[in-house]
Amino acid sequence: MKLVLVLGDQLTPSLSALRAADKTQDVVIMAEVRDEATYVRHHKKKIAFTFAAMRHFAQELQADGWNVVYSRYDDPAASESIPAALLTQAQAFKTDKVLTTQCGEHRLRSAITDTPLAIETLPDDRFISTTENFNTWADGRKQLRMEYFYRDMRRKTGLLMEGDRPEGGHWNYDKDNRKPAKRDLFFPRQLEHTPDQITETVLDLVEQHFPKHPGNLRPFLLATDRQGAERSAATFFETALPLFGDFQDAMLSGEAFLYHSVLSTYLNAGLLDARQLCDQAAAAYAAGKAPLNAVEGYIRQILGWREFVRGIYDREGPNYTARNHLSATGALPPFYWDPSATDMACVKSAVAQTLEYGYAHHIQRLMVTGTFALLAGVDPYALHEWYLAVYTDAYEWVEVPNVIGMSQFADGGVLASKPYAASGAYISRMSDYCAGCAYSVRKRRGPGACPFNPLYWDFLVRNREKLAGNPRMTQMYRTWDKMDEVSRAETLHSAAEILTKLHSGDRV
Ligand SMILES: Cc1cc2nc3c(=O)[nH]c(=O)nc-3n(C[C@H](O)[C@H](O)[C@H](O)COP(=O)(O)OP(=O)(O)OC[C@H]3O[C@@H](n4cnc5c(N)ncnc54)[C@H](O)[C@@H]3O)c2cc1C
Repeated sequence: MKLVLVLGDQLTPSLSALRAADKTQDVVIMAEVRDEATYVRHHKKKIAFTFAAMRHFAQELQADGWNVVYSRYDDPAASESIPAALLTQAQAFKTDKVLTTQCGEHRLRSAITDTPLAIETLPDDRFISTTENFNTWADGRKQLRMEYFYRDMRRKTGLLMEGDRPEGGHWNYDKDNRKPAKRDLFFPRQLEHTPDQITETVLDLVEQHFPKHPGNLRPFLLATDRQGAERSAATFFETALPLFGDFQDAMLSGEAFLYHSVLSTYLNAGLLDARQLCDQAAAAYAAGKAPLNAVEGYIRQILGWREFVRGIYDREGPNYTARNHLSATGALPPFYWDPSATDMACVKSAVAQTLEYGYAHHIQRLMVTGTFALLAGVDPYALHEWYLAVYTDAYEWVEVPNVIGMSQFADGGVLASKPYAASGAYISRMSDYCAGCAYSVRKRRGPGACPFNPLYWDFLVRNREKLAGNPRMTQMYRTWDKMDEVSRAETLHSAAEILTKLHSGDRV
């Protein structure tokens, strides 16, 4: 007889460990443990979602005939960690045989294999690609770029292909996908899921045990079971997919979701399936319900980006999280936890929405909170801990490549070909934040200037030695070099004032 470990992001009935187990004699182990809930200060909604979804999944397995031993967070005998839970049950059931599906995070992988138990680890085949496939594609390449991996995946899966050619003649329709949103658009509403008794019990538990964790717990409107997640997916395909592409990069104050799917939390926990979502999007295109720019854009995010970052995380190994190519050491500003502590309307809005929903869309994460930290020289590890804590979809395998690699260039260019550094002009073009801001985005430096503006140049100057050789940065350095000396000195002075304020915890 074996123990079958099912983790909080492995809530999939066809999980490889469950497929390999024998329902008539093996025992499923699920445990809400302190170490996982607290190794960063997770958002209250993230803990609530995870525990509630685990409890629903345990019920689903029991109804399907599995013997499930489930340990609740507030059980007096609850274990502190996953390895401790396994050891306790191994003793109780007098077995040392454990079946697991490889977990997403390096940290937990080694904690589990370091136990004195006989651990059999099966691959996590809920991804569309495999680690071997990614490594075969990556081996021998000078640079790993998502776009080429994505094309390979399109060919392999046949998604949006006409024979060996991409549907519509192009691989990528991003040129149609950069429209700023306008107030007079109709925005689809997110499906709101009323918590059932199981979820309510978890909400009370989170309120009682995690009062100091960030974020608002209620109203709690996330689905916590497969049926609810599938209803949310169906709503997205019906109401938002057609305009997903057009406004993918847009930001509007007070509109957290725009035309995004808001399904990553369900997908990463195992309540939804990546390939199925891509197939559903392709079917919407085939049925004439959504245009190609939207469907290709959506499929690229999952088949391209999601699979790519997972491959990078596995390939780069446990030390990836600690990389700091630009040697940034600044503290995370307090307004990442308290949006009222900044006057920058964009950061205030992105952080406030993050604390409310445990959600921000890609461009808010990349070009607002990410770019600000990059320009301000925040320690990438501290920023990583913030992203891992505050988003309900955050697990290291997906968060770390996005933060350490894409957003902070802390991996020196493994994932991205250049840093996502930008002045305030980008945010001004793609959002309405600047209109309501205390700072002026038009002002390049000096009192009242948007802090992104002088910090942008300061970032380039500070990191010149490491970045000037990058051909994609040449134009930016040329522009700086052409600027007159007085303007350059004033810009750097202005940036120094902002950095001093940040370092001394003053309001920015
Ligand atoms: C700094 C930073 C941190 C991030 N941290 C996370 C994280 O912890 N967890 C996470 O799932 N995503 C993360 N992302 C990627 C992306 O922001 C989210 O996947 C997306 O915002 C989720 O919202 P959505 O479901 O509405 O996505 P949509 O905009 O509707 O996109 C569709 C799907 O594509 C996938 N996807 C899109 N972009 C990416 C990407 N860059 N990497 C991986 N998958 C992607 C997601 O599964 C998403 O559900 C991060 C991005 C950045 C820049």
